[in-house]
Amino acid sequence: VMCDPRSLIEGLNPQQEEAVKYYGQALLIGAGAGSGKTRVLTRRIAWLLAHGFWASSILAITFTNKAAAEMRERLVTLVGPEAEHMWISTFHSACVRILRRDGKEIGLKSGFSIYDTADSERLVKLIAADLNIDTKRYTPRMLLGKISDCKNGLVFWKDQLKKANCDYTPGQRGYQVSAGDVDELVAVVYAEYQHRLALANAVDFDDLIMRTVELLQTCPQVSEYYRHRFRYIFVDEYQDTNHAQYVLVRELSGIDSDEQPDPQARGAGRVGPSWITVVGDSDQSIYAFRGADIRNIQDFEQDFPNAKTIMLEQNYRSTQTILDAANAVIAKNENRKPKKLWTALGQGDKIVGYAADNAQQEAGWIANEIARIHTEEDVAYRDIAIMYRANAQSRSLEEAMINANLPYQLVGGTKFYERREVKDAIAYLQAIVNPADNVNVRRILNVPKRGLGARAEGLVAGYADAHGLTFFESIEHMDQIEGMTGRTTKPLGAFRDLMHELADFAKEHDSKPSEVVAEVLDKSGLLEELQRSEDPQDASRVDNLSQLQSVAAEFEQNTPDATLAGFLETTALVADSDQLPGEGEDSGKVTMMTLHTAKGLEYPYVFLTGMEQGTFPHQRAMEDTSELSEERRLAYVGITRAKRRLYVTRAAVRAQWGQANDMMPSQFLDEIPDELIDWKRREAGVERMRASWGDDDEFGGWDDDDDFGSTSFGESMYGSSTYGSSSYGSGSRGSHSTYGSSHGSHSSYGSGRS
Ligand code: ATP
Ligand code: MG
Repeated sequence: VMCDPRSLIEGLNPQQEEAVKYYGQALLIGAGAGSGKTRVLTRRIAWLLAHGFWASSILAITFTNKAAAEMRERLVTLVGPEAEHMWISTFHSACVRILRRDGKEIGLKSGFSIYDTADSERLVKLIAADLNIDTKRYTPRMLLGKISDCKNGLVFWKDQLKKANCDYTPGQRGYQVSAGDVDELVAVVYAEYQHRLALANAVDFDDLIMRTVELLQTCPQVSEYYRHRFRYIFVDEYQDTNHAQYVLVRELSGIDSDEQPDPQARGAGRVGPSWITVVGDSDQSIYAFRGADIRNIQDFEQDFPNAKTIMLEQNYRSTQTILDAANAVIAKNENRKPKKLWTALGQGDKIVGYAADNAQQEAGWIANEIARIHTEEDVAYRDIAIMYRANAQSRSLEEAMINANLPYQLVGGTKFYERREVKDAIAYLQAIVNPADNVNVRRILNVPKRGLGARAEGLVAGYADAHGLTFFESIEHMDQIEGMTGRTTKPLGAFRDLMHELADFAKEHDSKPSEVVAEVLDKSGLLEELQRSEDPQDASRVDNLSQLQSVAAEFEQNTPDATLAGFLETTALVADSDQLPGEGEDSGKVTMMTLHTAKGLEYPYVFLTGMEQGTFPHQRAMEDTSELSEERRLAYVGITRAKRRLYVTRAAVRAQWGQANDMMPSQFLDEIPDELIDWKRREAGVERMRASWGDDDEFGGWDDDDDFGSTSFGESMYGSSTYGSSSYGSGSRGSHSTYGSSHGSHSSYGSGRS
């Protein structure tokens, strides 16, 4: 490595330098937001490389693929191209690599599919139908959530059956779950779900972690291989690891093995546990709903003998005002170690507050203010971020941005890879790579329409079930399926031939995923069906498919050994924040995202919106202390994203569940010391003006119960959707009449807070 190690500690404060240089087996860098944790982690890796440690012996885990790419880039800048050889990835990506290499040891065939949440839900739905489960009462989503909880806690399906005292055998027919026994229900669905995943040679997201742990725990030669390989393990955002991830780290590090280091050993000798460095802030733990366990960071010193903890106290990101606000809010959480966080950046601007009459007005004010600081204060759009608690809130904000003609990008929402047409195309690719993938084969059976309805699907599925075949194998035996008529066998045969043709094409063009995508779009008739359609929505769907082809072409260019399977992996593992432009790329746009997505990021100007009881903190959290603490940590994350100026806004009326509700100010607003906030408008409902940007009875703040998820309409990300075009904003969507009626009811409000 051509790099002077001294350059790596330049400009660091003493604690940061100590952390970079620390020589020892277990290190925790615990510190508040913006204190340089991620920076120190990166420097520490560079430091090791500069001292002759092998790049291939390093494993660094980040929270998103985007963070991984950034860290890699930075390391290449710091120490040179050797950094390319390092494993820097998310937990999920690292596990995919491990399972691709060694998954055969636990029964995974190469080319296994990775199911996303929508695929998994489809599978649960199929199972629920077969088991006669009342899906009104037990929704597939809820069942999947329970399965996910099991997996995050490393409860295997057999354990869950035992726990529920249940003797169900996967694949068994006619089993009756005792009424009202949720444990048993979950156990049975979980067992069946794993059974069918295995038949389909597929795994879901949680399996990536759980099955890797299973692999390491059951195959000593495999775990030994990785223990020798990864001598230095780094984990960023450690506060958000769940139990399964925690055990995974332990397994990889070999901390529990009784192997003692052998000083005589060279090469393949006994090596003893790997070095481990974790970085995190327990005040920023915000993924409890995915099983994140704050104790992982709190107990680090007990978990890893002789662990060293280094605390960083200087914040390099934010002004004192912003830090004071953040510190005041988080201080209200119980059972936390108080932290001192200070900054040399000075007091800075006051926080700017604004109370709006309703969500539209709030959004309108924000758009105005953005336009104002852009022209008057010369603030670049890319330096501004708007954050909110739930995706559904983005709608009124987007409307305002569009009406004010401001460039923006929405992160999250309906993600590119979750769009119907994109998923259809990908289902074809999955089915080509892995014909056993029943969920995806069934998805495309009648897409585009080829006259294969539910009856045909049922016949094939029934035969497959009875003969232990995959769905596609059963199609190959269709002449033996009873009840088939010529009306079914003809299109079914055409489908079979199509898939064979596509598979042959894919074999010949494996290294050119973009050509396979083109072939699929063309031969399947997917593209033609959309092109023929008169529905304007379908025009944007066509654009999305062409975008998919571009993504594949880009993948080819950036990946030396590109394969179709490799391409599918990258599409399966994109997270929300991966959609953001990378460092140095100039987006030139205002960024809009949920608070969860904002973790680890920073922007000079941040708008925290919807600061109301019931919006943020979320309704559910208001009666539950532990959930409220989690919301408060989320507020802490939000506030500390801001570098120069923070805005806090709220609306006195917001539509929820189709009803206009009066909203009290968020308690987090009250927790920020009064003198830190400069209220541009403190009381809502006092000056009730007609909003100048829209019609009074139009309203766009329809809030779904969507938390972090998938049902927002934001499609501006790839620039190709109909959304954001001029057809928008005419009020044709979403003019819910409930609004007008309670519009006047919030005037009583303003007096409560002076
Ligand atoms: P978070 O808790 O939000 O993940 P963090 O602790 O990981 O934050 P970083 O993102 O590493 O903090 O650093 C915050 C900002 O401060 C970054 O812009 C980083 O470049 C800068 N920074 C950190 N340490 C220093 C330093 N010693 N000198 C100058 N800038 C620094
Ligand atoms: Mg960080």
